[in-house]
Amino acid sequence: MTDCGCDKAKAELEEYLHRELSAQDFQDVTDHLDNCDDCSAEHLVGLTLTLKMRTACHETAPQELKAAVLAAITSR
Ligand SMILES: [Zn+2]
Repeated sequence: MTDCGCDKAKAELEEYLHRELSAQDFQDVTDHLDNCDDCSAEHLVGLTLTLKMRTACHETAPQELKAAVLAAITSR
């Protein structure tokens, strides 16, 4: 397992939320979020905002986003 550290995770959080990272970077950030309460909390906030924005646009929230929110909550 590679842990990329808080700096990289926070720098790439926005792209992570929009699924714009490469597969490797995506995995790095995912691994870090699993192991860092601080970053996973920040990710959850970003995820919630993204979700709300999509709902505001009358788009249905993708199942994977709901699953990610649930996983973030239950992994504490
Ligand atoms: Zn972190």
